[in-house]
This record gives sequence, C-alpha cells and structure tokens, in this order.
Amino acid sequence: MGREQWRAALRNPVGAVAAGLLVLLAILAIVAPILWGDAAEETDPAALSQGSTSEHPLGTDALGRDILLRVLVATRYSLGLALLATAICVTAGVVLGVLPAVLGRRAGRLVTAAVNLAVAFPGLLLALFFAVIFGVGARGAVLAIALAGAPSFARLVQTNVAAVAGRDYVAAARVAGVGRFRLIARHLLPNIGEPLVVNATVMAGTALLSFAGLSFLGLGVQPPAYDWGRLLGEGLDRIYINPAAALAPGVAVVVAGLAFTLLGESIAQVVGVRAVRRRRAPETEPAMTAAAAEPDGDAVLAADDLRVAFPARDGGWTHPVDGVSLTVRRGETVGIVGESGSGKSLTALAVAQLAPDAAHVTAGRLEVAGVAPLGRTGAEVRDLLGTRVAMVFQDPMTSFNPSMRVGRQLAEVTRVHERQGKRAALARAVDRLRTVRVPAPERRAHQYPHEFSGGMRQRAMIAMGLMSTPELIIADEPTTALDVTVQRQVLRLLKDVQAETGAAVVLISHDIAVVAQLCERVVVMYAGRVVEELPVGRLGAAAHPYTRALLASVPDLATDRDRPLATIAGRPPDPADRPEGCAFAPRCDFADDACRVRPGLSAVAPDQRAACWHPRSRPLDLTLDAVTGGQA
Ligand code: SF4
Repeated sequence: MGREQWRAALRNPVGAVAAGLLVLLAILAIVAPILWGDAAEETDPAALSQGSTSEHPLGTDALGRDILLRVLVATRYSLGLALLATAICVTAGVVLGVLPAVLGRRAGRLVTAAVNLAVAFPGLLLALFFAVIFGVGARGAVLAIALAGAPSFARLVQTNVAAVAGRDYVAAARVAGVGRFRLIARHLLPNIGEPLVVNATVMAGTALLSFAGLSFLGLGVQPPAYDWGRLLGEGLDRIYINPAAALAPGVAVVVAGLAFTLLGESIAQVVGVRAVRRRRAPETEPAMTAAAAEPDGDAVLAADDLRVAFPARDGGWTHPVDGVSLTVRRGETVGIVGESGSGKSLTALAVAQLAPDAAHVTAGRLEVAGVAPLGRTGAEVRDLLGTRVAMVFQDPMTSFNPSMRVGRQLAEVTRVHERQGKRAALARAVDRLRTVRVPAPERRAHQYPHEFSGGMRQRAMIAMGLMSTPELIIADEPTTALDVTVQRQVLRLLKDVQAETGAAVVLISHDIAVVAQLCERVVVMYAGRVVEELPVGRLGAAAHPYTRALLASVPDLATDRDRPLATIAGRPPDPADRPEGCAFAPRCDFADDACRVRPGLSAVAPDQRAACWHPRSRPLDLTLDAVTGGQA
C-alpha cells in the first residue's frame, strides 16, 4: 500500500476513529504499566470484593486490587499477545500459501488439500485443539490462535498468488529464467500485499477476541499474569455483586477488536480505488482535431475530445485515449481499427461507461443514445447500458456466469430493467436465441455456457444485447477467438441484426479486413488518436501512411504463401512515452521535419479526413474484394 492509500483510509471517518482508538490503546499499552503497574498489584484486605467507590470507581477484586487500574495495565499484555499471534499467523499463512508455487505439482496439491481441510474446521475449534496440544498458558495460547488462523490466511495467499501467476509479466519472468523463490519474492508477493495488509488488520482484531476467549476458559494467560480475558473471567464470578468488574474488561476487548477490524475495513475500501481517484484531475490540452462537429440530431453516439487517463508511476497521468472525436448515426455501421494499444477498446469502454475504476474519463461532449453519461450515478448508467447500449465482448466465456443457465442470464436483463415476470422474460430469451439462429433455443436456454460452442456463445452474447431494444451495439473484437467460418457467420448475424433492429453498430477490430466486411465507415486509431476516417469504399484511396500500412498487411489470394506476411515495422509507442509531434513518425517512411509537430485531422476528400502532413494521394493497387476476401 502506498502512502496515498494509507492517507485515504485515515481520511475516511470510520478509519479515522479506528486509527484514533488504536493510537490511544498504544499509548495506554506503553504508559499504563509504568504509571499504574505497582498500584494495580497492591492488595487491600480492608476492601475485598467491593463495588464502585470514590477510591475504586470500578470496584475491587477478591484480593482488594483496583479493577480499573488492572484493566488499564492489562492493555499492554492483551495487545502484545494478540499482535504476536497475528505476526506468527501471517508468516505461517504466507509460507503455506506460497508453498504450492514452490514445491512440485504433487507436493503442492498435498499442501493445498491440507489447507482446504483445515479451513473447513471452525477457527475456535482449531484454537482449542492446538491449545490442548501446546499446553495451558500464554505461549500455548499464542501458538494455538496463530495456527488456527493460518489456514484461512494461506487460502487467501494461494488464491491471490494464483490470480497474479497468470499475468503476462509473470509469464515473461518465467520465460526469462527467473527462479521460483525470486519469482515469488519479486513478482508475486509484492502484487498481493494489499489484501494481505487488510486481512492482517482484521486478523489482529480476531486474535484479540480469541485470546480473551481462551483466557476466559482458563486456557490462556495464567496467574499472576493477567490480560483482559482473565479479568473478564474473574469479573463474571461476581457479576451480580459488581457488574462493572466484568463489563470493563469486556468493553476493552470489544473496543480494541472493533478498532482493528474497522481500520481493516477502511483500508479495504480505499485499496486501489479512492486514493487514485483523489488525485488532481489530469490537465488536458485541446485536441488537435478539426473543429468540433455541430450536434447531429441523428447521432446515436457523439463524442468530442474524449480522453481516458490513468495515473502514472511518476505521479502524473498517461493518456491511452487522447482526444478522440467520433460520431455514429442511427443505423450506421462504423468500424474502429488499429493495432493493440491504439486505444480503440478503451474508447469503447469509456463510451459504455465501463472504463476501469482507476481511469479518469473526460470529454468536451459525450452523448450516447441521447444521454450524457459522464457525471451520472451508477444506477442511471446501468439503466442506460441495459436498455439502449449493448456490448458484445471478445470472449463470451468470461462474460457469462459459468454457474448460471444461459436462458436465465438473458432473462435477467429484462427482469432487472423492465421488471418482467420470470416466464415472460425466459420466453423472450428463447425468442432472442432463435433470432440469432441458435438451434433448438428452448433446449439451449436451459444449458450452461460451457455446453455452447465458441460461435454459439458469441451468438448468445449478441442475443443478450437484444433482450432490450438497443440503439447502439458495440462489438469489441467479437470474432477474434473464432475460426474463419464461424467468424463470417457472426459478422453476417451482426449485419442482419443491424438491418432488422435499425441499431447502430460500432465494430472494434485490429483486422481492417473484418471491419471492411461489415462497416460503411472506418475510423483508424493510432496511439490513442484518430488518424484517419473514411468510407469503406475509399479504402483504396487511404491517405494516411498508417492506414495504408494496415491495408498492405492484409493477405489476399495473390499473396505468396511461402513468404512471411507483411507487417508494419516497429511498435506503437508506449502511452507514457509518446514522441512529440506525429506519433507514427518513428515508423513512417515519409516523416520529415514538419512531422515534429502533431498534425490535426483535416479533410483530404469529401467524407475523408486524415491527420498527416503528407497525405498520400496515389490510389492503392487494391479492391474492396481483395481486402475482404469477397465477403463485403
Ligand atoms: S505526419 Fe509525417 S510522420 Fe506522421 S504519418 Fe504523416 S508523413 Fe508520416
């Protein structure tokens, strides 16, 4: 956790109160034994088992010792033991949690099975079991509580390690030959630190309560030492004579336990979210585009100067989407094309209000189906998304809940947004599955997503978008995971759906041939900006060197199969390190001094705009059929 996140957790009222209480308890733990340690041990035969008096506000115990002073002095021992147990628990949990990643497959499975078995037992039962094994007393209680909490901590570590282990950078480190221990220390543990900190804080509260429980049962701290649990047990013997003797240590246990737990909860709330959002908004310079278009009454999507920024490591911001202006009219089919990292998918997510939490989305104007979503509440945006905008993602397997039948998932859309009854919603789901040509839709509606083939899942995803009456369908790489035949079927289906419903379609793809098959207009993006916009019919007259390079890399029937496919030399720039001027310059054959200044979009022909100082005018030697393979 960074300093900013700690600050955000402490600015939260609950976090501030919890932190204040913990500071108070820490001060008490330090000073109480020094100031009142001896007085708390003093016996007074003249004041045995007294109730509240002016000299002893909470009364005295069976030996005449002041209960208030004993509760205050017990703070150090109670907190110290709880924190020691937490430290041992976290260490044991982390070791058990990473062991499966270090050991071989068989031994790793054995450890995982043992952890799962231990998690199935109630914590208190485990603590009692270990307390009997380790013996009565403070040391036994510390070990018992630590080991009882370790399995659930180990499970948390295992789950988080498994999630991080699949990331690209871990794979890259493996390929680079980084050893297991180094991989864990450098790549895995630092990336799961946040949930561990949160759970360790909550665990401290739990340990405190468990300690009180064991001492209360006579299994924890033994006389003459005393902690809050022991004082609670002694006080309960005389609860009808002097209730304060039991209440005071009980309240101390509850308050300290709550303070730890609430601090953990506050940290959990801000981890990775609020701290980022509270950064000062990124400063933006005006987009280098042609003058913003006049509002178009027929536009179903109108974005002017759309920007998506993410916090950078140096405290600034990077802009993967940097001033995109885009208009899509009713019934129109527009393709957004570009290499990975061009910002096309993030543009779509920002339009649909699905950008990641850490993203800062701004726009001069953003209207989707007549609604300006920026600045709206989550509920309003959910309504907008569910009824007017449909998203079709690249991998429907991850977009469907694997444990829910497909029909029920489709029906949920209308049940939530239109308050439709169960039967009617399911009937509509079956109807929509039929619309997207899923065979035997009644039977298929009762199947789970894994029982569908890849192409059929994609059809079901489109059917889900049609459960309401969308005005805009955004399909983000909908055919990338499919083979060529199924890809064509899905594209044809999108075309038919568009023709039947009159919805506008925005198709996002890295493949300009796929876009040319379905769309009327193509928007080419590079390094977070639109670099060319033109009708599909004018692809042969593409003016921007990048669009021409994309077209040149499309294989056709005349392509020599024995030679490697043409690619664009070089790589797109990192959003955090874009060159001044034209971002394509390092890869462009026509770059010169003029290109040190960033070009804006300007008209090169009716309906065609390009952001280039030297737009190409010589027509390319290709036909639309050659680009689409005859599928347009
Ligand atoms: S502006 Fe210059 S560098 Fe950029 S695409 Fe045009 S010619 Fe190439």
